[in-house]
Amino acid sequence: MSIDYQTLAVEGVQSLTPYQPGKPIEELAREYGLAPDEIVKLASNENPLGPSPVALEAAREALEEMCRYPDGNAFALKQALARYLEVAPSQLTLGNGSNDVLEVIARCFAGPGTEVIYSQHAFAVYPLATLAIGASGVEVPAKNWGHDLDAMADAVTDQTRLIFVANPNNPTGTVEGEAAIRAFLDKVPPRVLVVLDEAYCEYLHGSDDEVDGIGLLQQYRNLIVTRTFSKAWGLAALRVGYAVSSPSIADILNRVRQPFNVDTVAQAAATAVLGDQDYLERSREVNRLGLQQLEAGFSELGLEWIPSAGNFVAVDVGDKAQDVFEGLLEQGVIVRPVAGYGMPRHLRVTVGLPEENERFLRALARTLANHGA
Ligand SMILES: *Cc1c(COP(=O)(O)O)cnc(C)c1O
Repeated sequence: MSIDYQTLAVEGVQSLTPYQPGKPIEELAREYGLAPDEIVKLASNENPLGPSPVALEAAREALEEMCRYPDGNAFALKQALARYLEVAPSQLTLGNGSNDVLEVIARCFAGPGTEVIYSQHAFAVYPLATLAIGASGVEVPAKNWGHDLDAMADAVTDQTRLIFVANPNNPTGTVEGEAAIRAFLDKVPPRVLVVLDEAYCEYLHGSDDEVDGIGLLQQYRNLIVTRTFSKAWGLAALRVGYAVSSPSIADILNRVRQPFNVDTVAQAAATAVLGDQDYLERSREVNRLGLQQLEAGFSELGLEWIPSAGNFVAVDVGDKAQDVFEGLLEQGVIVRPVAGYGMPRHLRVTVGLPEENERFLRALARTLANHGA
């Protein structure tokens, strides 16, 4: 008798669909016979500036140590981060990207028979991390594409262990200001942990929507703030993210994370890039101007978009979004379809360099002329 091994997987895992990453440049080049340097990838919210030269130099030097295990406690990176964030090193948990941290949080605090709350159209890793450990996901309908924080607080039951809030959210780009986040935290019982995912917080700097998530930790002991080096800091390939929490929660998270989850090269580059404030400022400026450029282009094409606080924007291209996506691919432009996020009319486009945004907008105009919005 033949066994269907899929049925042996734990129930939550059977119900998973894998995370859909942005299409890699090399893959599109192979499939469409294009030269990699003709391709514009605006699909994964990566930093279009390329890496910081300071980070690159530190990474090159660290390669010399590749025969040794990394520092499992990441002493230098934690010191640098603690100084940068004005927290104690004991409040930090590092991860192989913040994805890793999100999964570790779920594994530490949820499990079968418990509930985890997140919003409709929120980051896809929340349901993945929840279902993989056999917990039940509770998806709360969005309000104007953003998190309905009141409804999320109202969804708490005796079984609720965790709430994930992405601020700004990916793929919608929506953001909640500090007053709204505080009002939400006031409503959530202290026995329920709140994960405030601030993967794009660097882009909020100086705006009215800027939230001092780390400042809120003093007042809300049930809060965990997660951040990443993948976006504004330009180190997506190296996989470094982190959580900031009370030392007591960090102690739990650090028991469960893999001992060498952030490698030597990643630690060195992340430590160095924190000193490159100039890179961060250029990243923000390129993003600010690029968003304006994309919005102006969408206006001209008569398209609606969701105002974004991140380094990407979701644009409504009509009910043939998949065709438009493919039409862009044929022209060497990779963006991200978001039908899997319950947004079948939108495409998410990452803000690129001015010439990349221009390439995308021209390709979009041509594609829409063929497929209609
Ligand atoms: C990109 C992203 C992350 C982090 O990704 P890592 O590369 O794993 O650090 C986390 N949350 C959201 C909402 C994101 O968009």
